Amino acid sequence: MHVLFLAAEAEPFVKIGGLADVAGALPVAIHQISRTFREANKIDIRMALPFHYAIKQNGFLPKFLGEFLVKKGELNLNCQVYHSTKDGVPVYFIDGLPLNGKTTVYSRNSEDDGDKFIFFSLAALQLAEVLEWPVHILHTNDWHTAPAIAALKTHHKSSRFLSSTKALHTLHNLPFMGKDNEKTLAEYGLLPNEDSNLPNWARHVPLPLGLSYADKIIVVSPNYASEIMTEVYGCGLEGFLRERKHIIGGILNGIDTAIWDPNTDPFITHKFTEKSIEKRRFNKRFLLHRYNLPEIQDAPLLILISRMDQQKGIDIALQSLLECEALPWQAILLGSGDPLIENLARDLEKKYPQRVRTFIEFNTPLAHQLYAGGDILMMPSRFEPCGLTQMIAMRYGCIPLATSTGGLKNTIIPVGDDYDSGTGFLFEQPNPSHFSATLKQAIKTYQDPDQWRQIQVNAMQTDFSWSKSALKYIHEYMALLAINE
Ligand code: ADP
Repeated sequence: MHVLFLAAEAEPFVKIGGLADVAGALPVAIHQISRTFREANKIDIRMALPFHYAIKQNGFLPKFLGEFLVKKGELNLNCQVYHSTKDGVPVYFIDGLPLNGKTTVYSRNSEDDGDKFIFFSLAALQLAEVLEWPVHILHTNDWHTAPAIAALKTHHKSSRFLSSTKALHTLHNLPFMGKDNEKTLAEYGLLPNEDSNLPNWARHVPLPLGLSYADKIIVVSPNYASEIMTEVYGCGLEGFLRERKHIIGGILNGIDTAIWDPNTDPFITHKFTEKSIEKRRFNKRFLLHRYNLPEIQDAPLLILISRMDQQKGIDIALQSLLECEALPWQAILLGSGDPLIENLARDLEKKYPQRVRTFIEFNTPLAHQLYAGGDILMMPSRFEPCGLTQMIAMRYGCIPLATSTGGLKNTIIPVGDDYDSGTGFLFEQPNPSHFSATLKQAIKTYQDPDQWRQIQVNAMQTDFSWSKSALKYIHEYMALLAINE
């Protein structure tokens, strides 16, 4: 089985958010599982990524493979392909990106992004012909690569390499649809889908256009898969998605347990497992000393590691911390994004210089250190398709305090009256009063070391590896191929 996996970002080449974690790990997990299969059932999964400027700046030098043309109206755009591998999975880097590829991975200008990612989607699809490699499954992710599905089903119907390809799309985040790119889609020959279930506005928007042609849609958690069929979370596509219900499934993301392993993590000073949780306190002490915060008995260290976006509800946590001034807590906040939210986070440090540190940046080593030394991860998301941060935190014995929404509900077992199985704290509504009430409960629990330790052990023992989910994807691929037979 040949699978072409397309994504806008992937670890370790370039990372902006959770998509990079997924795209870096899932193809490798599928490759590894399939190595145990009989020869006839093996899966040849290959990945294509845009050759972003950020990847080049890292000094990464893949091998030049060849070049070909991509049609944009009357223009023939030159595309170069480079090649490398990641843990046995071939990776193709597509260059020749519009604007000379010199934009950031995602720009604030949706038209620049449209041009880049639609070009990438079409070029990546042409790889099948360039490599003379028939593709059985096209696996796309998010709006950036959804146009490849539309192109597959409209431009390549008579291709020797793509005519019987089935398309599976993984939906990581519904609100990001690639809007304002009607003109660019048309320039690349991608016309609106006349499917009557699609609302008019959605017919020429990259994500819904791709979804309308997909053979299978996988949502990154079972709970979010149901939520997107409701008005609250459906972003105007709920009716269309309900009509497609029979092809929609939910598969939880996993985390890369080799990268996220507190027992081997090169960024942390004191490695530990669930049998030596007490060593976490040295990692906490390291953070407090390094950032000049006092050691306070009974005060949990609250951490936040996040894109600063409305979605993540950071304003809710910040407001709640102001309301909970009388409680013992310290906080280290890490993230960047919306300047208004960044300023709120800076303001909290200004107000509580003895308790709070704020880092407005993307900082991988610090993120690892926070997972290893923080006591409670704050994740008051307004919606959360899956969320990786809470799973990483749990693996490091850092207990999530999160909204009961999307994938958070599927991955966190709420601490109940006994502490036998709970792995975190969930609250119903993303607002400061629900957050504050649950924070109080969490701090009280933290002050009972035996109870807290039990919750940490439960969290660290949860299996968040990709193996189960990767197998589910393989089953989906097989089911799609069976439709052909
Ligand atoms: P998203 O919606 O951004 O994809 P996820 O929870 O799925 O959220 O994944 C976020 C990933 O990005 C995690 O690996 C997290 O550790 C990482 N991350 C987020 N913000 C930062 C930051 N400022 N510095 C370092 N890593 C970050």
